Amino acid sequence: MIRTGVIGYPVQHSLSPLIHNYWIDKYGFDGHYGTHEIAPSDLSDTLKKLSTEYAGFNVTIPHKQRVIELCDTLDDTAQKIGAVNTLVIDSGKIHGTNTDSFGFAENIRQAEFRVDINGTALVLGAGGAARGVIHALQTLGFQKIKIANRTLEKTQAIAKDFGVEAIEWKKREQAGADISLLVNTTSLGMTGQLPLEYDLHNLPPGAAVCDIVYKPLYTVLLHEAQKRGLGVITGIGMLLHQARPAFAAWYGTMPDIDENLQRKIDEALA
Ligand code: NAP
Repeated sequence: MIRTGVIGYPVQHSLSPLIHNYWIDKYGFDGHYGTHEIAPSDLSDTLKKLSTEYAGFNVTIPHKQRVIELCDTLDDTAQKIGAVNTLVIDSGKIHGTNTDSFGFAENIRQAEFRVDINGTALVLGAGGAARGVIHALQTLGFQKIKIANRTLEKTQAIAKDFGVEAIEWKKREQAGADISLLVNTTSLGMTGQLPLEYDLHNLPPGAAVCDIVYKPLYTVLLHEAQKRGLGVITGIGMLLHQARPAFAAWYGTMPDIDENLQRKIDEALA
């Protein structure tokens, strides 16, 4: 039995069990993916105990940074992003990686329309997710990347780490005039949060808008983008694609996102 799961606090809202247990059944593995709500103060002790019985974990808020110090090894992607979302446990050793960048990049590559990756991208937000998104945009080959965030110090820190351009939050709309892709990585627009205020009139006609928030699937930002005839990319693809390399690392098979899984996710989000 190959046991895996997600660790976070809280974690009950996670869609990862639905995704991974679907693949465990589909590919016929003897396994189970569970949820483990672990308070920050218990992280070290609980992870040590669990690591004797588990092949790996996904890591979610608030442990993505803290867990780094509990890893025996860390790959280049996790080091560059400065956060771990996947642990692979082998003979008691904990290896940390980050598949969010892969998930975001695949979601852009598989968009129903072509996103101009030779252009400029503007990222809104400078939290944990923004670092994975900027890593992905650089991997995709974007020529220029700009970042704007409410708290300027965080904008500047990410801009320095990744060699991208820092934009003041109040200038975020002006900064959209020459972009081919706008990405919201703030938590604004999520169910229960205020919508993101962003006037899309400035964006060039061929630009695309991606919101990594996936609850709701179509945020106010994406509805506005649709009304303006811009290409729209929801955040659920990032979540589904980031799960694939994690599953492959634990179970040895790179899984597909098939129609049945899409339907189950749509039902869960409805
Ligand atoms: P986080 O680290 O808490 O960062 C939150 C970001 O939102 C910060 O940049 C913060 O700005 C900004 N923000 C919050 N309230 C704001 C407001 N009133 N005005 C302007 N900016 C505001 O969160 P995260 O981990 O980066 O996640 C962000 C979102 O991405 C969440 O909704 C999460 O569910 C989603 N996400 C999706 C995926 C996926 O697979 N699709 C993966 C990861 C995350 P300050 O720095 O100024 O506070």
